[in-house]
Amino acid sequence: MKPFLTTLLVAGSLLSGQAAPMPTLIIDGQNNHDWKATTPVMGKVLEASGLFTVEVATAPDAKNPALADFKPDFAKYKVIVMNYNGAMWGEATRKAFEEYMAGGGGMVVVHAADNSFTAWPAYNEMIAVGGWYGRNEKSGPYLRWRDGKQVLDDKPGPAGHHGAGHEYVLDTRAPQHPIMAGLPAQWMHASDELYDFMRGPAKNATILATAFADPKFGGSGEQEAQVIVINYGKGRVFHLMLGHGPEAMKCVGFITLLQRGTEWAATGKVTQKVPADFPKADAVSLRQ
Ligand code: ZN
Repeated sequence: MKPFLTTLLVAGSLLSGQAAPMPTLIIDGQNNHDWKATTPVMGKVLEASGLFTVEVATAPDAKNPALADFKPDFAKYKVIVMNYNGAMWGEATRKAFEEYMAGGGGMVVVHAADNSFTAWPAYNEMIAVGGWYGRNEKSGPYLRWRDGKQVLDDKPGPAGHHGAGHEYVLDTRAPQHPIMAGLPAQWMHASDELYDFMRGPAKNATILATAFADPKFGGSGEQEAQVIVINYGKGRVFHLMLGHGPEAMKCVGFITLLQRGTEWAATGKVTQKVPADFPKADAVSLRQ
């Protein structure tokens, strides 16, 4: 039955001029965050756009020998959403993922997924900047926004930090980019961690939005990159540092960026409209 129904749906989509939903894979299973709670939230957000059908690949525990055989069939998917911060994958899996991305694949990196894989150079190139787990000036520069432009800061120091969670303003820095087109210049994000002192190779990376890491909350005092796109070979990466947990993911700004960024990572385009309940510069907007 299932293939038959799928065929009908695809045919119906073609008749109505709509593209069929794109196969999308969320990877989880290890994370110092509550991946069991956030994966279903992100899956629902993505499917609500009508653009994606979401499957989940859950990696075995770090101590489980089966982790060595964890190897999703990346090529089956238009885009891979990383909700994984954990033990290194096997060499064959890493190579397959590098080939998938270099050949034109899409990846979305959410929050602590940019803490993962300090010792995997290609992954760090894909995400541009990361934090924690031994990263420092050898990992690459800090990526920040100063005087109206993107700046690479080679100052020595550790990578990855956040102050106390709070509501904060996102500043759009690339209003012409398809992901950002039509979004306000400033909008208020729901209470969340604000990652600062992130560093890495930062090659082929464009900052789409920053936030001021206010020292009042323990932040760096810099405009820190929060939303970044990266070209890796023919592949596209959307890096979204927001999203510590399910509460922060109720923010319509988070929801909209996840939907639009995932479409862009999959296709290079964005066809979705900005929703009417998008947050304002001085007002958070949540969906329950
Ligand atoms: Zn967090």
